[in-house]
Amino acid sequence: MMLNKFTVEECQRTKVSCTKCSISFKKQEMRVTIKKIMMSTEYYHLPCFTPRFNQYIIEKNITLKLNQENSKVFKDWLENWNSKFFPLDQITPEKMKATLMLQDKSLTTNSTRRRRMLIEVFLFLELNDIVKVLPFVSKEFYHTTWEPELWKCLIKRDFLEVVAESENWKHSYIKLYVSCCLECKEIPSEENFYRCPLIKRVLCNNCRKTDKYRLMCKSDIKSCFDIDAKILGLNFGQAFCNNQVVYRCHLLKAIEKFREKNKEAVLSKLYEELDENCKIVRDVKGINHCKMEKQFFGLNFSKPNWDERNEDKDYRAIYSFIRSGRGKINYNKIFSKNKGNASSLNS
Ligand SMILES: [Zn+2]
Ligand SMILES: [Zn+2]
Repeated sequence: MMLNKFTVEECQRTKVSCTKCSISFKKQEMRVTIKKIMMSTEYYHLPCFTPRFNQYIIEKNITLKLNQENSKVFKDWLENWNSKFFPLDQITPEKMKATLMLQDKSLTTNSTRRRRMLIEVFLFLELNDIVKVLPFVSKEFYHTTWEPELWKCLIKRDFLEVVAESENWKHSYIKLYVSCCLECKEIPSEENFYRCPLIKRVLCNNCRKTDKYRLMCKSDIKSCFDIDAKILGLNFGQAFCNNQVVYRCHLLKAIEKFREKNKEAVLSKLYEELDENCKIVRDVKGINHCKMEKQFFGLNFSKPNWDERNEDKDYRAIYSFIRSGRGKINYNKIFSKNKGNASSLNS
């Protein structure tokens, strides 16, 4: 829905004039300012101003920069304008009913005790698993994935939108899935709406501008994380100048997973011959695979974030391997060097 948005302020410069009556503003005179994308800004005297959309004006959509006196004049004007419309920012009785319904934790379906228990468990799983994996596990699981109760609970879990009591909760879920922003979980306004071709989901313009959804191209990945993007198994999208890009939050998740796997592999190899009495095993266990880059002003740098005091070559070689997946670790050398320190020392 398009909404009325504008600023009301006192005029600071006197060179501009009212778009409607063409009379110049006096200094400190109250005026309405409407900034338009790609067009020149419009200014109006309050009496000359008619809001673009014939609808209730929500106070939080307008910016007020007024002194007390003008503020009062404007409030009267607003009250007068709004008196003709149904309030958009107040909860209607239907909405209220729906809100109460969403807060209500009691179960209303007549499914069996066991099925209700399954629903509670399913709620810990991701949508993809619920839709694509669970139905193939067993007949019972299949039927549970069709339980209206499950979908009602999933709506509460995944979206911040209020839904009226529905006959088909799964339908309602799908409707919200295709219209709610992936990040803020709300249905964006028309001017804020954006469906991302990269992830095929709605990602509102506000959320899209956050650091989390910064686009990273393959060369960024190499320079910031010292990882060859190819081995991360990410789905890249095409952006400007044919650049292959991915969202930063998805990249970070993939990198974390990749490094966790590397660390597990190294540890399980070390445990074949060594145990935690060995310093190298403890050192490797202590590596934080979620934070392997040095940070500088919140940005990741492609410098390894290892313990600078630990100059052990094996430790550093293992660190580099976990971080980038590259380099060779000479396990035989590590084993023969550390054997004497293994459990025998403690016994
Ligand atoms: Zn005017
Ligand atoms: Zn959003």
